[in-house]
Amino acid sequence: MNTTRRQLLGATGAFGLTALGSQFRARAAESSASPTEVDVVVIGAGLSGLMAARRLRQQGMKIHILEARERTGGRMIRQTTDTGAVIDLGGQWGGETHHRFKTLVGELGLEMFPSYYDGKGVLVWDKQRIEADMAKTPESSVLLFDSDQIQQPSAEIAKAKAAMKLFREIAASVDPSRPWNAPNAAELDRTTIRAWCDKNSGSRLSDFELEWLSVVGGSGGFDPWDASILHLAWTQSVAPQDEAPEAWLLKGAAGQVAERLSAELTSQISLNSPVHAIDQTDNNVSVQFGDGKRIEAKAAIVAIPPPLRQRITFTPDLSAETRSFLQRSPMGSMIKVFAIYKKAYWRRKNLNGFGVGNLKTLELTADSSLPSGAPGILASFVTASAAVAFQQMTLKQQHRAVLDDLIAYWGPEAGEPEELIIQNWNEESWSTGAFTSFVTPGAWTTYGRGWQQSHGRVHWAGTEASTRWPGYFEGAIEAGIQASKRAVAQL
Ligand SMILES: Cc1cc2nc3c(=O)[nH]c(=O)nc-3n(C[C@H](O)[C@H](O)[C@H](O)COP(=O)(O)OP(=O)(O)OC[C@H]3O[C@@H](n4cnc5c(N)ncnc54)[C@H](O)[C@@H]3O)c2cc1C
Repeated sequence: MNTTRRQLLGATGAFGLTALGSQFRARAAESSASPTEVDVVVIGAGLSGLMAARRLRQQGMKIHILEARERTGGRMIRQTTDTGAVIDLGGQWGGETHHRFKTLVGELGLEMFPSYYDGKGVLVWDKQRIEADMAKTPESSVLLFDSDQIQQPSAEIAKAKAAMKLFREIAASVDPSRPWNAPNAAELDRTTIRAWCDKNSGSRLSDFELEWLSVVGGSGGFDPWDASILHLAWTQSVAPQDEAPEAWLLKGAAGQVAERLSAELTSQISLNSPVHAIDQTDNNVSVQFGDGKRIEAKAAIVAIPPPLRQRITFTPDLSAETRSFLQRSPMGSMIKVFAIYKKAYWRRKNLNGFGVGNLKTLELTADSSLPSGAPGILASFVTASAAVAFQQMTLKQQHRAVLDDLIAYWGPEAGEPEELIIQNWNEESWSTGAFTSFVTPGAWTTYGRGWQQSHGRVHWAGTEASTRWPGYFEGAIEAGIQASKRAVAQL
């Protein structure tokens, strides 16, 4: 087995990016001379910043993008592994209702294929391994499986469904752009997910289902004591898991999207250009980046995760409420793990690679192979406090922990992957975690009101700024487009 630990991807250029990625890097490095004046300056060359810049350029604006890393793409990055598999170290799936993402993929000429869900998934519950069909409706679902097949006492299943029904009702009452207006918002916002479960769940299955939504399903990366039930309900109101967010994948991986957008904008991107300060007057912004360089513009779009906005000095400063909200919007903790096999052998056994369970390390496994099933790729996640414990282990201990769980889900063959790749997003200093940021208890109702409001000529993008699918590619695109409209309105 070829085992690798990937850290600081791209910062050293130490791993084999695909040909297109490497070519782009070379060209962008040559063109790093930045203009001194543009119409709009975009900060961050992730999907959101790239989309904002693309839109503005299509409308004839003069733009420039400043990117802190030595590569573009942010949380959208692919890699070719030593055995030749192409994987997404960051996001990978598109969803059934990710309409903007689908359109973009079409425009870029990329090929989609459905995620593999044929056959049964596996639930490991209290060390018992249960094969079950995926649920066809939310009402028949427990942990996304057909509740009739998960071999749990019917009273327990009934309680779990009742608790999830109650939770769904709360989610349906939350306005995506104004969660503080939900009925009983203040009470829900000061109640952690854990405390809500203690009062309303009455079932270990629904405790686990809500915990699963917080650590990995939905926005992911936080423990049930880190956020309020209002925040969790908001994540489902803006990004409903019932709308199948993991419905399709891209041949050649999603990272190509960022590469192709970057290739369109090559001469308008400066890499290795972290932004340190944004000063503004009534009719101008002045952005300081890199080792003391400056660009003047009529507007700026900041397309970076909320906690990282705090590294920028704003003059005039952000309002006290905005700062307080940012201080209460940390990133989730997230480690993505790939196990790569010669073939997706589980498919032969009528299994689909979807695994969930109350195991120690892996919260979820999913088949990420091409339709041919060769190579066989299982993507999985270590998240929240389990990720923090995991990153303190030696590499050998990490491999053992991952393989133990993979074997529990997918049998002894799972213990012998050709490659095991661990991507720790918590160690990426220009992300500081993933999938996205979350909001701590009480913060929505106390400080949330200005969360999308522009700061004069500075407009917020980045997936977290969206009211539809924040935390996802779709939200990144949406937020980029909305910010570009706000900037244009000001020129
Ligand atoms: C492991 C993982 C799995 C995921 N799975 C999925 C999935 O399956 N489907 C899905 O839809 N989404 C998924 N996501 C989420 C998705 O990847 C993100 O929502 C999306 O890529 C965010 O794009 P963005 O442009 O908003 O932010 P980012 O990609 O974070 O881009 C921000 C950019 O700003 C740069 N930057 C930061 N600070 C500065 C500064 N001061 N100056 C200049 N530049 C700066 C960063 O380097 C970065 O390039 C996943 C994410 C991860 C990490």
